[in-house]
Amino acid sequence: MGKRNITFLILLCLGYVLFSGWLWGEEGGFRLEEREVRKVYGEVFPVVAKFYQSRRKPFPIRLISSEELAKILRDEFKFHRIYDGPQKEANIFQAVALAQKVLFAKFAIKRGEILVIPQNIYQAAMKLKMPLRSKKFLWFLLIHELCHGFDEARYGYVKRLFRITSPEAYQAFNAVIEGHAEYITEKVARKLSLEKEFIAWHRWYTSSFKTGNELSDYLRKMYVAHFSFAYTQGFLFFKKLEKLKIKDFERRVFTHPPKTPKHILEPELYVGLRALDRSRVRDVGKLSKLLEKELRWKIVRSLSVNEVVLRAALSLLPSKRVEPAFQGLIQTNIIRYIAGAEQITVALVQFENTKSPQLFLQLEEALSDAKDKKFRRWIQSSQKRWQSLPNVGKCFTTIKKFKSDSVYNVYHVSFAYENYLLEINVVGGNHSFQSLRDLARRCFQILAKAPLRSLSQGSLPGGGRKGR
Ligand SMILES: [Zn+2]
Repeated sequence: MGKRNITFLILLCLGYVLFSGWLWGEEGGFRLEEREVRKVYGEVFPVVAKFYQSRRKPFPIRLISSEELAKILRDEFKFHRIYDGPQKEANIFQAVALAQKVLFAKFAIKRGEILVIPQNIYQAAMKLKMPLRSKKFLWFLLIHELCHGFDEARYGYVKRLFRITSPEAYQAFNAVIEGHAEYITEKVARKLSLEKEFIAWHRWYTSSFKTGNELSDYLRKMYVAHFSFAYTQGFLFFKKLEKLKIKDFERRVFTHPPKTPKHILEPELYVGLRALDRSRVRDVGKLSKLLEKELRWKIVRSLSVNEVVLRAALSLLPSKRVEPAFQGLIQTNIIRYIAGAEQITVALVQFENTKSPQLFLQLEEALSDAKDKKFRRWIQSSQKRWQSLPNVGKCFTTIKKFKSDSVYNVYHVSFAYENYLLEINVVGGNHSFQSLRDLARRCFQILAKAPLRSLSQGSLPGGGRKGR
């Protein structure tokens, strides 16, 4: 366990972690021949083309190594504005390092070709009980990538993705892209009488596996919840829109995409059938800059964390206890900073109501206790304290020492105020309960200066009226 994984643990999140060998492990005896891939491609292409009513000739297809994939990804990620900022290089490096290991196939935009990465498939096949029987997964992989190709030809979504700068909008649009590919793949699978196999495949690659190492299993669970959001929730999003009988919804979703993961989870909000009270939502972009300026921290990255990941983080607690705290949750943003030797993470969880943040704060203590118990192999010492915080009430603080390859101090302070919960985690440095409370007080003062942000309700023009 490296320092990054520890950082990962104490936060409620995710994807910036460099996942090393323990994610996939060694490759084994499973083989995938090029002619096999080409044969399946020859079979599925006409079926998918017919679905899209397209007469184009097949996209070229190639089998490549994970190293070559990394090169292609590096080239492509340069154009994603979401990685912009002083840490652009490092952000891209981390994103590539992760994707390079987990992608089985890809539609590469530059040359409009389908890429298959046998190396990654072998490794997953060996370690993760991939449903290999009859290798039907190959059908679904290729159909999925073909959907990206045809969607790009039809909607030109890539340029739109490149331009997005807000983490929430990026996560939502990614769910549109992946969700739609899965949505069509299921339909094609049904045509090919492979529906059962498709469901087994979809379930397999969107679920997490136990390894017996409690800490890495817990991290993996959050990681999978984050990574698979686009595939599972995006897929369900399209199925719900179909059920709601929104006219021409596929085109409309690509041209007027949902702006937050919340829209993906609740399409009724997206199409304007229900409204969310956003009148008290704080502008996270402005807040992150204020914190940077006033505390002299250096911003590394800003992320949006969806509810599915939050639930995975709280999975150490009984769900009966957790669920009431999710009532009226609007959005969660995570901002990462560095300050000297300290890695600081600020999480802002915003709600429609004032009761849920208080419930969430109670969960912080329960979660801390649960971690002490479950991860005692890695926790050398742990102290907690409730302290009074002027104008707020109280804050919850913990000081823990983690041991992995070396020993890390991990500090936490959180408080609930009005309709939000603020959580600050620090790895490294030297804090006391007193200094953590001071930090919370300063953050509270800064947060009070962050303006509210006016957000539109649904993002689908014309609302959810049926039959338009
Ligand atoms: Zn995809």
